[in-house]
Amino acid sequence: MITGRFAPSPSGRMHLGNLFAGLLAWCSVRRAGGEILLRMEDLDPQRTNAAFADQIRRDLERFGLNWDREVACQSSRKAAYDAAFGALEAAGLVYPCYCSRAEVHAASAPHLGQSEFVYPGSCRNLTEAERKTRKRAPAWRLRVPEQIWRVSDGLQGDYSELLSRDCGDFVLRRADGVYAYQLAVVVDDAENGVTQVVRGRDLLASTPRQCYLFSLLGRPAPHYYHVPLLLAPDGRRLSKRDRDLDLGALLERFSPEQIIGSLAYAAGLLEQDAPISAAELAAEFDWNRVRKEDLCLRLGE
Ligand code: GLU
Repeated sequence: MITGRFAPSPSGRMHLGNLFAGLLAWCSVRRAGGEILLRMEDLDPQRTNAAFADQIRRDLERFGLNWDREVACQSSRKAAYDAAFGALEAAGLVYPCYCSRAEVHAASAPHLGQSEFVYPGSCRNLTEAERKTRKRAPAWRLRVPEQIWRVSDGLQGDYSELLSRDCGDFVLRRADGVYAYQLAVVVDDAENGVTQVVRGRDLLASTPRQCYLFSLLGRPAPHYYHVPLLLAPDGRRLSKRDRDLDLGALLERFSPEQIIGSLAYAAGLLEQDAPISAAELAAEFDWNRVRKEDLCLRLGE
């Protein structure tokens, strides 16, 4: 049986792109008769809050998306992340990094085509004595091997990275003690027995890192589908700050079924832009029809 999940970050109201990813995750699992979970990725107390989480829950309900287990919250899972972090530390794979963000950026070249920076390993081989001289609270990084990690994505095809060259040692826990998304998402997907991950294409570049973490935790990685991003009419990527395609504004003008119909039509799942419920769409859902290129939606113009 397939176990899927939708894992929004309650850092604002969902925009249409977030809903789109959730809709496809839900339809894929419902079509296959599996189970799907909702997880609030509320790790960062400075960026996320319970009011946004409630809003997301209400919005998803309005679109007819329901969940098979109790809604999970990462903010209550610190013990599980501590345990995984402890195991990686005990295996000698984790080290403290004292670099500021500015230092990391200054010392490293941006990787071709990526907005993230490759960490040059400045703190990788510090001695105990050198560490003692540092004043700053450290972030904690995972050593990555000189090894290629390959993802066979159900929609985007093969994607691989040589982690040491394309990513560098990455952060598992920030200097303020907050666990990084990369660790938390893998610990949670592993513990929940998730076998299928459907999410935005922007996270494809995180996937080799996550596959590496799955292997270190001795768990199989799920099967991935990275779905197209929605672009604003002027070609910009949507962000939660762009209120134009935020769900609140759209729901004042369109029914949930109209919005789902337009999304499904843009994605290649419907022949016509006509209203449809999530359950009806799930009944005819087919990955072979889903476009993999980013979509520009005219809804709301
Ligand atoms: N929380 C992430 C987001 O809202 C998604 C993480 C994931 O699906 O792996 O973009």
